[in-house]
Amino acid sequence: MDKIVRIICVLLTLAMVAMIVPELRVSGVRAKPLDPPFVRLTPLEMAALPLATRFDMPLGSEHGAFTYNARAFRIQRHLGDDLNGIGGGNSDLGDPVHAAGAGRVIYAGVPSPDWGNMILIAHRLPDGDELGPVVQTVYAHLESMRVRAGQVVQRGDVIGTVGTAAGRYWAHLHFEVRVGPYINPGQGYADTALNRVAPEVFIRAHRGADENVLNPPPEND
Ligand SMILES: [Zn+2]
Repeated sequence: MDKIVRIICVLLTLAMVAMIVPELRVSGVRAKPLDPPFVRLTPLEMAALPLATRFDMPLGSEHGAFTYNARAFRIQRHLGDDLNGIGGGNSDLGDPVHAAGAGRVIYAGVPSPDWGNMILIAHRLPDGDELGPVVQTVYAHLESMRVRAGQVVQRGDVIGTVGTAAGRYWAHLHFEVRVGPYINPGQGYADTALNRVAPEVFIRAHRGADENVLNPPPEND
């Protein structure tokens, strides 16, 4: 009886090895490369983000005066807007870049030479916003950065200055708006919009009406 049990055990073991070995061979020959590591904000971190009730343009005046958009969203596969001072060339080099809205810096670093200095700020949107609960604003090619990851910023705070990604481009601000909690420098160009939305359209829709509605003209009587 013992012998039979032992034989069955051996047979079962052999059967299992036979099933596993091809798997080992497949994964052993060419292990699939892991996706580059990326992290996401936890639900708790999302809930603790500063609430952003209003957004302004990050360059020039709060309405973007004195700037132009050299390459708009989705032109030539672009995932953001390239904002420039109206002087053109490098005349905007070193100009202040402002946080578009209240939020928390979730990345500040140099992910690649093409990006140069890059800042990601996460914002919590008011309940009911169709893009909520979290969007991120992205500021790239900066000459300098004045914030660190983890820092809370208010709308309009100077977070850095317009740069060239260390001489790669004419000075400009690559500005993006991304939807969702994933923290990943990502790419500036793609065939589809990925999780990006048109920055200028987003800002226009999130300016908060109250401070932008001009007073009506006085009534003539
Ligand atoms: Zn760009």
